Amino acid sequence: MDIKNVTIIGGGVLGSQIAWQVAYKGFDVIVYDINEDALEKSKNFHKGYAQYFLKNKGATSEEIEATFSRLKYTTDLNEAVKEADLISESVPEVYEIKKDIYQKLAAVAPEKTIFTTNSSTMLPSQLVNFTGRPEKFLALHFANPVWEANIGEVMGHEKTSKEVFDTVVEFAKAIGMVPIPLKKEQSGYVLNSLLVPLLHAAETLYFDGVADYKSIDKTWMISTGSKFGPFGIIDLIGMNTLYNIIKMRGEKLQDEKILKRAEKIKEMFIDKNKLGVSTGEGFYKY
Ligand code: NAD
Repeated sequence: MDIKNVTIIGGGVLGSQIAWQVAYKGFDVIVYDINEDALEKSKNFHKGYAQYFLKNKGATSEEIEATFSRLKYTTDLNEAVKEADLISESVPEVYEIKKDIYQKLAAVAPEKTIFTTNSSTMLPSQLVNFTGRPEKFLALHFANPVWEANIGEVMGHEKTSKEVFDTVVEFAKAIGMVPIPLKKEQSGYVLNSLLVPLLHAAETLYFDGVADYKSIDKTWMISTGSKFGPFGIIDLIGMNTLYNIIKMRGEKLQDEKILKRAEKIKEMFIDKNKLGVSTGEGFYKY
């Protein structure tokens, strides 16, 4: 596997986790984001993960220091990708933003660079035409938090080369993920094909006033032995992603009730910077 330099496009909730995990596992990593503020946030996430790894993952201070030495940050896209063997893209779940960044990446990335998307809801075939490298484009989809829910769902489209697919499976293993190879494109991969209907059902119970969110979570946790209920999972995913997913569903189904639900999430949480675990409060306080 010829992967050494990895570029993370979008250092938000997931991009920052992926950057940390990949650097921790010995790869050189550059995080690209649109402005210094966003990069500062990513650096702060990394300081937090360092503490977490020291306390809970048995990491030594030498390993943490080495991880930081392999992490760089930039707002210059050319700089970010000039050495990249593999790009992991985690920009917001908005089609126009993804389209735009792939067009820009196609123009500046070396020919050798494999592009992987972490999109939760878009299929590689919806984005492939903007990448300029159909055979080297596929999804490597992570779960949150990357180091605990350590699956890496690998999903190509019709023109992804087998060799590139296998390289990404190997890369997923090398960064401590359990690879989940998908044999064909599936909206929502394996995980979200299971998870999205659960979250949707939970939101409906809550917004229809059937039960409060703690009772809904307790029901799920006690009866299935899960660590989290649906609202605990929502806090982990983050309210921006939840908002985008609900809004997209509302637009697709032309359903006013679902669109109103997205606005409610914005008012209740996003406007108050209660984005979930990442900001210390969502449905729950952390
Ligand atoms: P987020 O909003 O936390 O982070 C997005 C980041 O992208 C921000 O730092 C933002 O500044 C940056 N950004 C915006 N425009 C950009 C551009 N043009 N170029 C580069 N960076 C840009 O979102 P997130 O929750 O990390 O989700 C990102 C992606 O990861 C989405 O596709 C989502 O579906 C996927 N994902 C999220 C989760 C999750 O639990 N949050 C899990 C799996 C996959």
